[in-house]
Amino acid sequence: MLEGCTPWPEEYQRRYREEGYWQDITLWRMFEESAARNPDNIALVYEDQRITYRELERRINRLAVKLSELGLKDRDRVIFQLANTPELVYAFFALMKIGVIPVMALPAHRFTEISHFVKHADAVGYLIPDQVRGFDFRDLAEEVKAASPCLRHIIVAGEAKEGQSSINNLIADCDGDSVPDDLGDPSDVALMLLSGGTTALPKLIPRTHNDYVYNCRQHRKMGEINEETVFLALLPMAHNYNLACPGILTTLDCGGRVVIAPHLNAEQVFALIEKENVTIVPAAVPLITKWLTSGLVEKFDLSSLKTIMNGGAKLVPELRQRIRDAFGCNFQESFGTGEGLINVTRLDDDDDVILHSSGRPISPGDEIKIVDENGNEVPDGEKGELICRGPYTIRGYYRAPENNASAFTEDGFYHTGDLVSRRDGNLYVEGRIKDLINRGGEKISIDEVENHILANDKVENVCIVAMPDPQYGEKACAFVKLKDGQDITFDELSTFLLGRGIAKFKLPERLEIIENYPLSPAGKILRRELRRMIEETLEAEAKISVGDEINA
Ligand code: AMP
Repeated sequence: MLEGCTPWPEEYQRRYREEGYWQDITLWRMFEESAARNPDNIALVYEDQRITYRELERRINRLAVKLSELGLKDRDRVIFQLANTPELVYAFFALMKIGVIPVMALPAHRFTEISHFVKHADAVGYLIPDQVRGFDFRDLAEEVKAASPCLRHIIVAGEAKEGQSSINNLIADCDGDSVPDDLGDPSDVALMLLSGGTTALPKLIPRTHNDYVYNCRQHRKMGEINEETVFLALLPMAHNYNLACPGILTTLDCGGRVVIAPHLNAEQVFALIEKENVTIVPAAVPLITKWLTSGLVEKFDLSSLKTIMNGGAKLVPELRQRIRDAFGCNFQESFGTGEGLINVTRLDDDDDVILHSSGRPISPGDEIKIVDENGNEVPDGEKGELICRGPYTIRGYYRAPENNASAFTEDGFYHTGDLVSRRDGNLYVEGRIKDLINRGGEKISIDEVENHILANDKVENVCIVAMPDPQYGEKACAFVKLKDGQDITFDELSTFLLGRGIAKFKLPERLEIIENYPLSPAGKILRRELRRMIEETLEAEAKISVGDEINA
């Protein structure tokens, strides 16, 4: 296995093969076999492009040849920050074919995150879109390259600048010869996901071909994914949820069709569902709340929809019911982690389970425990931390021995940091013990953002807490204590943070200046007291605005 990764102990490797979880094929082989079975099916739809499996395979092969010619080779790492376009799919599988390991960054990441990934993984390449909504990734890439001696190749979906390579030109220029063999080793690392974790910057999650192919194939059964499936890709396809749970990979493994949505607004999304007869949409809390309040659902024929999924953060029961009523389709909750374990509600579960629970593990090979702070299992119905291990749950982060010592038990269970209870075999998310804010599925590490704020000369101390939000579930609020005689506005703080080169979604969305933090008898800042304070402030403000409306 790649240096810096933790393999499963041999007895588990044996067991996962014997029990049929690991099939010893690479993700490339999985796609190639599907393309051979379904050459004339449409694999991808994007704007006016309709790409068959045969054509998709041809483009991937050509790109694989050219990426090899550039010098990318088996076990190299590259940062993969492509936006939702067909080029993402070509590049992903081309890398799988030649054994290059993509680190799956998100479109929102900026200099600080990307240069950290490059350094941590010794990445030799960086794949980017040219521009997205006015932001030029090619300039960002040059900045990262100037600061990263190991980075040699910038590969652009769209138009490249001087010294960079364009994916589209590489595909067009290939003479079609010397298609490389499938170089990946199924038991080795295929890709690296990012932890939505609590450390200063995301940790890298090495996923092997074997565990990821299994993850995809197990999702077939959970969502009835098959050749008839028309999957709508709205959320970032580089994130585990839309990549493989069931995501584009499971759909493509089944000969189904992936429709990539160029726009996220409700009207265009509904029009696309109607036009393409979409059957499944994996969504998240903010999108769902927008859709339900859009007043547009009845204006479209959405009868092709079989399932709307929610993942990344819990969707409350009322909204699950409203999804079913408004769209007349199944609702499926997905509660999972990039580290591995995924729980889903089953389509044929009782209403009570579908509406209230966070599902149960997708694999019989998943071992889960709910434990108290001493690691002892708690009885059913009581809250504890969810820990897990299994055939697609990692045994360690990449090059992170210190984090691994606390994130995994000695016998290999991963600490999710999620507080759950279990009833009748189903899990119920009750909260979390990890220090992060879940902004409708986007994870913000409190530690990371506090460190950036502390770098501001005017700030003496800062404490970030989650504040409730009707659309996102929660958002970040920064309680800042200023140095004597200093002053700072919300806009000034936001500009300062953006200047630090971090993803925009991490910025606190409210600033509260505080003189003295509430402290415990031992002198620790009481975060829960700060949470209570901001909740009260928000409630009071809501009352005032209702009062204003009545008086107006
Ligand atoms: P990520 O690795 O970014 O997918 O984040 C995984 C974390 O997101 C989990 O450990 C949970 O804290 C949270 N999460 C994901 N899905 C759900 C859900 N359906 N309900 C509650 N929390 C969720």
